[in-house]
Amino acid sequence: MDLTRELGLARGKWVVANCGKFPSEKNCQLVIMAPASQREDLIEAAATHAVSSHGHENTPELRKELDEFLDTVEM
Ligand SMILES: [Zn+2]
Repeated sequence: MDLTRELGLARGKWVVANCGKFPSEKNCQLVIMAPASQREDLIEAAATHAVSSHGHENTPELRKELDEFLDTVEM
């Protein structure tokens, strides 16, 4: 799968939050991606999802954990 072609994404470094890496009762497989330059936006979106869908508390610790769990891919 070539995401740059299929979705029209820019080439370069992207950060990925993959909820499927966490075991959850909902079997959630949400994936959120952003260019590396928008890492903060991605963490914000992932934190919103973790709070609204998985009942996490919206804390600085949550954002720190999410930051550590992001994958970086080269597109
Ligand atoms: Zn999820």
